[in-house]
Amino acid sequence: MKPVPIRTFPDPILRKKTQSVKAFDRSLLRLVAALIRTMKSQPHGIGIAAPQIGVLKAVAVVDVSKRESGTERLILVNPVILEKRDPEARKEGCMSLPDYTAFLKRHRWLRVCWQNERGEFLEKTCAGIEAICVEHEVDHLDGVLFIDHVTCLKTDLFPRPLRK
Ligand SMILES: [Zn+2]
Repeated sequence: MKPVPIRTFPDPILRKKTQSVKAFDRSLLRLVAALIRTMKSQPHGIGIAAPQIGVLKAVAVVDVSKRESGTERLILVNPVILEKRDPEARKEGCMSLPDYTAFLKRHRWLRVCWQNERGEFLEKTCAGIEAICVEHEVDHLDGVLFIDHVTCLKTDLFPRPLRK
């Protein structure tokens, strides 16, 4: 199966709020598989949210295991961030805005609860890059993009060098 084309800004679907998942069925498993496949097809893909492949459901995948040992792939259905701490300004990008990176504030520690693809309730505290990625993907599910957190577009938004 092929990766799904990624929706890019200013596609209006990226601005819509997703609906929570109520049926833990085959169509959800297909969506999760498509998200994983599409994320893996991107060279720096460490997270993806359903609106990025055109689906308005509250489902995201985070996998920072290549960058942070001791972490594993999280399949986040209906995620809710319960608590955030340690804000820090850092540089960030997004597959839906491939031409830009920006400085913005994220939290280096958070507590999140969610359901997995079988509907089981889970909770975890995340730190470092995993926390940052979870916050980024949960934003996508609310129609929020990283550029919304940039305080000054003039000084804090950077065009990416042209890719080969
Ligand atoms: Zn993104």
